[in-house]
Amino acid sequence: MRTKIAIFGAGNVGASLAQLIVQSKIADLTLVDILKDLAIGKALDLAQAKPVYGSDVKIIAGSEPELIKGAELVVITAGATRKPGMTREQLLETNARICAQCAKAIKKYAPNSIVIVVSNPLDAMTWLCARITGFDKSRVIGMAGVLDSARLKLFLADALGASVKDIQAMVLGGHGEQMVPVLSYSSWQGERLEKLLSKSKLKAIIERTKNAGAEIVAKLGTSAYYSPSASCLEMIKAILFDEKRLLACSSWLKGEYGIKGIYLGVPIILGKNGVEKVVALKLNSWELRQLKKSAETVSALINQLKRIKL
Ligand code: NAD
Repeated sequence: MRTKIAIFGAGNVGASLAQLIVQSKIADLTLVDILKDLAIGKALDLAQAKPVYGSDVKIIAGSEPELIKGAELVVITAGATRKPGMTREQLLETNARICAQCAKAIKKYAPNSIVIVVSNPLDAMTWLCARITGFDKSRVIGMAGVLDSARLKLFLADALGASVKDIQAMVLGGHGEQMVPVLSYSSWQGERLEKLLSKSKLKAIIERTKNAGAEIVAKLGTSAYYSPSASCLEMIKAILFDEKRLLACSSWLKGEYGIKGIYLGVPIILGKNGVEKVVALKLNSWELRQLKKSAETVSALINQLKRIKL
Protein backbone atom coordinates (compact mmCIF):
# COMPACT_ATOMS: atom_id res chain seq x y z
CA MET A 1 0.00 0.00 0.00
CA ARG A 2 1.23 3.47 -0.87
CA THR A 3 1.63 6.22 1.73
CA LYS A 4 -1.16 8.78 1.77
CA ILE A 5 -0.26 12.46 1.78
CA ALA A 6 -2.92 15.10 2.35
CA ILE A 7 -2.54 18.74 1.38
CA PHE A 8 -4.67 21.55 2.80
CA GLY A 9 -4.90 24.29 0.19
CA ALA A 10 -5.16 23.61 -3.55
CA GLY A 11 -3.79 27.05 -4.45
CA ASN A 12 -0.43 27.78 -6.01
CA VAL A 13 1.82 25.99 -3.51
CA GLY A 14 -0.61 23.15 -2.76
CA ALA A 15 -1.34 22.38 -6.41
CA SER A 16 2.33 22.62 -7.46
CA LEU A 17 3.23 20.21 -4.67
CA ALA A 18 0.38 17.92 -5.71
CA GLN A 19 1.80 17.83 -9.22
CA LEU A 20 5.27 16.97 -7.94
CA ILE A 21 3.84 14.14 -5.83
CA VAL A 22 1.80 12.67 -8.70
CA GLN A 23 4.69 13.03 -11.13
CA SER A 24 7.21 11.45 -8.75
CA LYS A 25 4.71 8.68 -7.83
CA ILE A 26 5.75 8.68 -4.19
CA ALA A 27 2.33 8.63 -2.52
CA ASP A 28 -1.43 8.71 -2.91
CA LEU A 29 -2.81 12.19 -2.57
CA THR A 30 -5.71 14.01 -0.96
CA LEU A 31 -6.28 17.64 -1.87
CA VAL A 32 -8.54 19.69 0.41
CA ASP A 33 -9.53 23.29 -0.21
CA ILE A 34 -12.33 25.40 1.18
CA LEU A 35 -13.10 26.07 -2.48
CA LYS A 36 -14.43 22.62 -3.37
CA ASP A 37 -14.49 23.07 -7.13
CA LEU A 38 -10.93 24.38 -7.13
CA ALA A 39 -9.69 21.23 -5.37
CA ILE A 40 -11.76 18.90 -7.55
CA GLY A 41 -10.91 20.74 -10.76
CA LYS A 42 -7.17 20.63 -10.07
CA ALA A 43 -7.39 16.96 -9.06
CA LEU A 44 -9.19 16.12 -12.32
CA ASP A 45 -6.57 17.96 -14.32
CA LEU A 46 -3.76 16.17 -12.47
CA ALA A 47 -5.46 12.78 -12.84
CA GLN A 48 -5.62 13.28 -16.59
CA ALA A 49 -1.84 13.72 -16.59
CA LYS A 50 -1.33 10.34 -14.86
CA PRO A 51 -1.20 8.31 -18.12
CA VAL A 52 1.42 10.74 -19.43
CA TYR A 53 3.48 10.53 -16.22
CA GLY A 54 2.90 6.76 -16.04
CA SER A 55 1.66 7.36 -12.51
CA ASP A 56 -0.97 5.20 -10.79
CA VAL A 57 -1.21 7.18 -7.55
CA LYS A 58 -4.75 7.76 -6.30
CA ILE A 59 -6.04 11.32 -6.03
CA ILE A 60 -8.99 12.37 -3.87
CA ALA A 61 -10.19 15.97 -3.62
CA GLY A 62 -12.88 18.09 -2.02
CA SER A 63 -13.59 20.55 0.75
CA GLU A 64 -14.44 18.11 3.55
CA PRO A 65 -11.63 17.91 6.12
CA GLU A 66 -12.47 14.25 6.86
CA LEU A 67 -11.02 13.37 3.44
CA ILE A 68 -7.60 13.44 5.10
CA LYS A 69 -8.47 10.32 7.14
CA GLY A 70 -5.58 7.85 7.16
CA ALA A 71 -2.99 10.34 5.90
CA GLU A 72 0.50 9.62 7.23
CA LEU A 73 1.74 13.04 6.19
CA VAL A 74 -0.25 16.29 6.04
CA VAL A 75 0.97 19.53 4.48
CA ILE A 76 -0.72 22.83 5.35
CA THR A 77 -0.57 25.33 2.50
CA ALA A 78 -3.99 26.85 3.20
CA GLY A 79 -3.97 30.56 3.80
CA ALA A 80 -3.65 34.04 2.42
CA THR A 81 -0.48 35.18 0.65
CA ARG A 82 1.16 38.55 1.00
CA LYS A 83 0.61 41.18 -1.63
CA PRO A 84 3.34 43.56 -2.85
CA GLY A 85 4.64 45.70 0.03
CA MET A 86 3.28 43.39 2.75
CA THR A 87 5.35 41.46 5.28
CA ARG A 88 4.64 37.82 6.10
CA GLU A 89 3.89 38.90 9.68
CA GLN A 90 0.86 40.89 8.49
CA LEU A 91 -0.85 37.59 7.62
CA LEU A 92 -0.83 36.50 11.26
CA GLU A 93 -4.47 36.83 12.23
CA THR A 94 -6.04 35.67 8.96
CA ASN A 95 -3.80 32.65 8.61
CA ALA A 96 -4.01 31.75 12.29
CA ARG A 97 -7.76 31.18 11.86
CA ILE A 98 -7.22 29.08 8.72
CA CYS A 99 -4.33 27.04 10.16
CA ALA A 100 -6.28 26.46 13.39
CA GLN A 101 -9.09 24.87 11.34
CA CYS A 102 -6.61 22.63 9.52
CA ALA A 103 -4.82 21.66 12.74
CA LYS A 104 -8.12 20.72 14.43
CA ALA A 105 -8.99 18.49 11.47
CA ILE A 106 -5.55 16.87 11.55
CA LYS A 107 -5.88 16.11 15.26
CA LYS A 108 -9.24 14.48 14.63
CA TYR A 109 -8.73 12.64 11.34
CA ALA A 110 -4.99 12.02 11.04
CA PRO A 111 -3.84 11.74 14.66
CA ASN A 112 -0.70 9.77 13.84
CA SER A 113 0.50 11.92 10.97
CA ILE A 114 3.57 14.05 10.54
CA VAL A 115 2.65 17.65 9.71
CA ILE A 116 4.59 20.03 7.48
CA VAL A 117 3.44 23.64 7.75
CA VAL A 118 3.99 26.03 4.83
CA SER A 119 1.55 28.87 5.55
CA ASN A 120 2.97 32.20 6.71
CA PRO A 121 4.11 33.65 9.01
CA LEU A 122 5.79 30.30 9.03
CA ASP A 123 7.36 29.85 12.45
CA ALA A 124 4.29 31.19 14.27
CA MET A 125 1.91 29.02 12.22
CA THR A 126 4.03 25.94 12.94
CA TRP A 127 3.93 26.75 16.67
CA LEU A 128 0.14 27.12 16.45
CA CYS A 129 -0.33 23.80 14.64
CA ALA A 130 1.83 22.02 17.22
CA ARG A 131 -0.21 23.56 20.03
CA ILE A 132 -3.60 22.72 18.54
CA THR A 133 -2.78 19.16 17.44
CA GLY A 134 -0.96 18.47 20.71
CA PHE A 135 1.34 16.20 18.68
CA ASP A 136 4.86 15.49 19.80
CA LYS A 137 6.85 18.47 18.49
CA SER A 138 9.05 16.15 16.43
CA ARG A 139 5.98 15.50 14.23
CA VAL A 140 5.19 19.16 13.46
CA ILE A 141 7.74 20.87 11.24
CA GLY A 142 7.83 24.12 9.26
CA MET A 143 9.12 24.48 5.70
CA ALA A 144 11.18 27.61 5.03
CA GLY A 145 14.87 26.91 5.60
CA VAL A 146 15.07 24.51 2.66
CA LEU A 147 13.66 27.23 0.41
CA ASP A 148 15.75 30.07 1.83
CA SER A 149 18.86 27.88 1.57
CA ALA A 150 18.00 27.00 -2.05
CA ARG A 151 17.77 30.70 -2.85
CA LEU A 152 21.15 31.37 -1.23
CA LYS A 153 22.69 28.41 -3.10
CA LEU A 154 21.38 29.69 -6.42
CA PHE A 155 22.72 33.21 -5.96
CA LEU A 156 26.10 31.88 -4.82
CA ALA A 157 26.31 29.48 -7.75
CA ASP A 158 25.45 32.28 -10.18
CA ALA A 159 28.11 34.57 -8.69
CA LEU A 160 30.74 31.83 -8.95
CA GLY A 161 29.65 30.56 -12.35
CA ALA A 162 29.37 27.17 -10.60
CA SER A 163 26.81 24.37 -10.53
CA VAL A 164 24.14 24.62 -7.86
CA LYS A 165 24.95 20.97 -7.13
CA ASP A 166 28.38 21.87 -5.79
CA ILE A 167 27.26 24.59 -3.38
CA GLN A 168 26.69 23.93 0.31
CA ALA A 169 24.81 26.69 2.09
CA MET A 170 22.28 27.08 4.83
CA VAL A 171 19.88 29.76 6.02
CA LEU A 172 18.69 29.57 9.62
CA GLY A 173 16.38 31.63 11.81
CA GLY A 174 12.81 32.76 11.32
CA HIS A 175 11.28 32.92 7.85
CA GLY A 176 11.29 36.70 7.65
CA GLU A 177 13.55 39.65 7.15
CA GLN A 178 15.69 38.50 10.10
CA MET A 179 16.65 35.16 8.55
CA VAL A 180 20.32 34.25 9.01
CA PRO A 181 22.39 33.06 6.03
CA VAL A 182 25.20 31.04 7.63
CA LEU A 183 28.32 31.74 5.62
CA SER A 184 30.57 29.89 8.05
CA TYR A 185 28.93 26.67 6.79
CA SER A 186 28.76 27.67 3.12
CA SER A 187 31.22 26.26 0.64
CA TRP A 188 31.93 25.36 -2.96
CA GLN A 189 33.66 21.98 -3.34
CA GLY A 190 34.73 22.27 0.30
CA GLU A 191 36.26 25.74 -0.16
CA ARG A 192 34.82 28.45 2.13
CA LEU A 193 32.84 30.99 0.10
CA GLU A 194 34.32 33.82 2.11
CA LYS A 195 37.60 32.94 0.35
CA LEU A 196 36.04 32.86 -3.12
CA LEU A 197 33.82 35.94 -3.21
CA SER A 198 34.44 39.52 -2.09
CA LYS A 199 32.77 40.90 1.02
CA SER A 200 30.61 43.26 -1.04
CA LYS A 201 29.44 40.44 -3.35
CA LEU A 202 28.56 38.26 -0.38
CA LYS A 203 26.71 41.14 1.27
CA ALA A 204 24.65 41.69 -1.87
CA ILE A 205 23.88 37.96 -2.09
CA ILE A 206 22.75 37.86 1.54
CA GLU A 207 20.47 40.85 0.99
CA ARG A 208 19.00 39.31 -2.16
CA THR A 209 18.38 36.03 -0.32
CA LYS A 210 16.50 37.84 2.44
CA ASN A 211 14.39 39.69 -0.11
CA ALA A 212 13.99 36.86 -2.60
CA GLY A 213 10.37 36.20 -1.60
CA ALA A 214 9.46 39.90 -1.81
CA GLU A 215 11.22 40.21 -5.18
CA ILE A 216 8.86 37.56 -6.58
CA VAL A 217 5.79 38.99 -4.84
CA ALA A 218 6.52 42.36 -6.47
CA LYS A 219 6.45 40.73 -9.92
CA LEU A 220 3.64 38.21 -9.47
CA GLY A 221 1.41 40.02 -7.01
CA THR A 222 1.43 36.80 -4.97
CA SER A 223 3.95 34.45 -3.35
CA ALA A 224 6.39 32.11 -5.03
CA TYR A 225 5.25 28.54 -5.54
CA TYR A 226 7.55 26.46 -7.73
CA SER A 227 10.51 26.70 -5.36
CA PRO A 228 8.39 26.39 -2.17
CA SER A 229 6.69 23.23 -3.45
CA ALA A 230 10.03 21.74 -4.58
CA SER A 231 11.45 22.47 -1.12
CA CYS A 232 8.46 20.82 0.48
CA LEU A 233 8.96 17.72 -1.67
CA GLU A 234 12.55 17.47 -0.45
CA MET A 235 11.28 17.35 3.15
CA ILE A 236 8.57 14.82 2.25
CA LYS A 237 11.10 12.50 0.61
CA ALA A 238 13.41 12.76 3.63
CA ILE A 239 10.52 11.56 5.81
CA LEU A 240 9.03 8.92 3.49
CA PHE A 241 12.37 7.34 2.65
CA ASP A 242 13.88 7.85 6.11
CA GLU A 243 16.79 9.68 4.50
CA LYS A 244 18.12 11.29 7.72
CA ARG A 245 18.79 14.44 5.70
CA LEU A 246 20.44 17.42 7.34
CA LEU A 247 18.03 20.22 6.44
CA ALA A 248 17.17 23.63 7.82
CA CYS A 249 13.56 23.43 9.04
CA SER A 250 11.43 25.30 11.51
CA SER A 251 11.66 23.10 14.59
CA TRP A 252 10.84 23.22 18.27
CA LEU A 253 13.74 24.39 20.39
CA LYS A 254 14.37 23.23 23.94
CA GLY A 255 17.48 25.25 24.67
CA GLU A 256 19.52 24.48 21.57
CA TYR A 257 21.45 27.58 20.50
CA GLY A 258 20.37 29.08 23.85
CA ILE A 259 16.77 29.37 22.60
CA LYS A 260 13.70 27.60 23.96
CA GLY A 261 9.93 27.43 23.72
CA ILE A 262 9.59 28.55 20.10
CA TYR A 263 9.78 27.19 16.56
CA LEU A 264 12.74 28.50 14.56
CA GLY A 265 14.72 27.51 11.49
CA VAL A 266 17.62 25.30 12.63
CA PRO A 267 19.52 22.38 11.11
CA ILE A 268 17.81 19.10 11.88
CA ILE A 269 18.06 15.46 10.93
CA LEU A 270 14.83 14.63 9.12
CA GLY A 271 13.72 11.02 8.84
CA LYS A 272 10.73 8.72 9.20
CA ASN A 273 9.95 10.01 12.70
CA GLY A 274 10.07 13.65 11.66
CA VAL A 275 12.67 15.70 13.51
CA GLU A 276 15.12 13.11 14.81
CA LYS A 277 17.67 15.58 16.12
CA VAL A 278 18.41 19.29 16.22
CA VAL A 279 22.00 19.65 15.08
CA ALA A 280 24.20 22.07 17.00
CA LEU A 281 26.48 23.84 14.54
CA LYS A 282 29.34 25.93 15.86
CA LEU A 283 28.13 29.32 14.68
CA ASN A 284 30.39 32.33 14.93
CA SER A 285 29.42 35.03 17.44
CA TRP A 286 27.83 37.29 14.79
CA GLU A 287 25.68 34.45 13.42
CA LEU A 288 24.61 33.41 16.92
CA ARG A 289 23.65 37.01 17.77
CA GLN A 290 21.61 37.24 14.55
CA LEU A 291 19.89 33.93 15.32
CA LYS A 292 18.88 35.18 18.77
CA LYS A 293 17.61 38.43 17.28
CA SER A 294 15.53 36.46 14.81
CA ALA A 295 14.24 34.29 17.69
CA GLU A 296 13.10 37.43 19.52
CA THR A 297 11.04 38.49 16.50
CA VAL A 298 9.42 35.04 16.31
CA SER A 299 8.76 35.05 20.09
CA ALA A 300 7.03 38.42 19.82
CA LEU A 301 4.84 37.09 17.03
CA ILE A 302 3.94 33.98 19.01
CA ASN A 303 2.99 36.20 21.97
CA GLN A 304 0.76 38.21 19.64
CA LEU A 305 -0.75 34.94 18.42
CA LYS A 306 -1.51 33.83 21.99
CA ARG A 307 -3.78 36.87 22.35
CA ILE A 308 -5.89 36.00 19.28
CA LYS A 309 -9.13 34.17 20.05
CA LEU A 310 -9.37 31.20 17.70
P1 NAD B 1 -3.00 30.53 -2.69
O1 NAD B 1 -3.85 31.70 -2.38
O2 NAD B 1 -2.66 30.26 -4.10
O3 NAD B 1 -3.68 29.21 -2.07
C1 NAD B 1 -4.16 29.15 -0.77
C2 NAD B 1 -5.37 28.26 -0.78
O4 NAD B 1 -5.82 28.03 0.56
C3 NAD B 1 -6.57 28.86 -1.53
O5 NAD B 1 -6.94 28.02 -2.62
C4 NAD B 1 -7.67 28.93 -0.48
O6 NAD B 1 -8.96 28.69 -0.99
C5 NAD B 1 -7.22 27.85 0.48
N1 NAD B 1 -7.83 27.94 1.82
C6 NAD B 1 -8.13 29.04 2.54
N2 NAD B 1 -8.69 28.68 3.72
C7 NAD B 1 -8.73 27.33 3.74
C8 NAD B 1 -9.19 26.37 4.68
N3 NAD B 1 -9.70 26.74 5.86
N4 NAD B 1 -9.08 25.05 4.37
C9 NAD B 1 -8.56 24.66 3.17
N5 NAD B 1 -8.12 25.53 2.25
C10 NAD B 1 -8.20 26.84 2.53
O7 NAD B 1 -1.67 30.68 -1.80
P2 NAD B 1 -0.27 29.93 -2.00
O8 NAD B 1 0.57 30.70 -2.92
O9 NAD B 1 -0.54 28.50 -2.27
O10 NAD B 1 0.36 30.10 -0.54
C11 NAD B 1 -0.21 29.46 0.56
C12 NAD B 1 0.47 29.88 1.86
O11 NAD B 1 1.84 29.48 1.83
C13 NAD B 1 0.49 31.39 2.11
O12 NAD B 1 0.27 31.66 3.47
C14 NAD B 1 1.91 31.80 1.71
O13 NAD B 1 2.32 32.96 2.37
C15 NAD B 1 2.67 30.58 2.19
N6 NAD B 1 3.98 30.39 1.58
C16 NAD B 1 4.98 29.98 2.40
C17 NAD B 1 6.23 29.74 1.90
C18 NAD B 1 7.32 29.25 2.83
O14 NAD B 1 8.48 29.31 2.46
N7 NAD B 1 6.98 28.75 4.00
C19 NAD B 1 6.49 29.95 0.52
C20 NAD B 1 5.43 30.36 -0.30
C21 NAD B 1 4.17 30.56 0.23
